[in-house]
Amino acid sequence: MDMQSSIQEKIRELHALLPQGVELVAVSKFHPAEAVREAYEAGQRIFGESRAQELLAKITELPDDIRWHFIGHLQTNKVKSIIGKTAMIESVDTEKLLDVIDKESVKAGVVSNVLMQLHVAREETKFGFSVDELLSYFRERRFENLKATHICGVMGMASNVEDETRIREDFSTIAGTFRTIKEEIAPDLRGFETISMGMSGDWPLAVKEGSNLVRVGTAIFGQREY
Ligand SMILES: *Cc1c(COP(=O)(O)O)cnc(C)c1O
Repeated sequence: MDMQSSIQEKIRELHALLPQGVELVAVSKFHPAEAVREAYEAGQRIFGESRAQELLAKITELPDDIRWHFIGHLQTNKVKSIIGKTAMIESVDTEKLLDVIDKESVKAGVVSNVLMQLHVAREETKFGFSVDELLSYFRERRFENLKATHICGVMGMASNVEDETRIREDFSTIAGTFRTIKEEIAPDLRGFETISMGMSGDWPLAVKEGSNLVRVGTAIFGQREY
C-alpha cells in the first residue's frame, strides 16, 4: 500500500474506533499539505498545527472548510497573525496569552474559541496552568473580563512514561479539574464542554478517563522529521 492510501486507512480506522461524541484532531504539524489533503479525502476536517507560520502556509493551500486547531506553545507576538483563522486555540498556557488573544480578537472583530492548557505531567518542559492556578482563575471569575474570547474547556498531556497507572492518573486529574470547574466553581459558564487529551500512544486511556477530543499525529501520518 502506498503512503497516501495508508493515511486514509488510518483516518477511517480511527473514526471507526472513536466512541460517539469523541472528536479527532489530526495533528499534521511537520507534515506536508499533501498529507493533510489525503486525510481530508477520507473525511477528516479538524487538523492540529503547532507553529503559526506553518499553519498560515497550510491555510492558503488547503480547503476552506478545514477547522484548524492551534496546539503548540503560542508566543504573544504571533497571536495577531492567527486570530480569526483558527477554530480553536487549544494551548492557552498563561493568563497573559489569554489577554493578548482577547485584545487581538476585539481588534479583529472576531470571537476566539480557546482551551486552557493544564500542566499535570511530570516533565518540566511542558507548558500550562497548574491545577491550583486554573481553579483560582475560575474561582475568582477572571474570565468575566474577556470580551471576545470563549473558553470552551481544557487541554492537557499525560506524562511521557510507560507506566499506565501514572498516565491514567494524569488524565483523571485533567478530567477531574474540568468537572470541578464545570459543576462546582462556574456552573453558569456556557459552552464549557471540551476535554482535549490523548495522543497517538495514549488516546484509548484518555477516552476512558473522559476525553472528548483526541489529538493524534504519528499514528496517522507517521514519524515527524523535525
Ligand atoms: C504533537 C502533538 C500531538 C500529537 O502527538 P502524536 O504523538 O504524534 O500523536 C498532540 N498534542 C500536542 C499538544 C502536540 O504537540
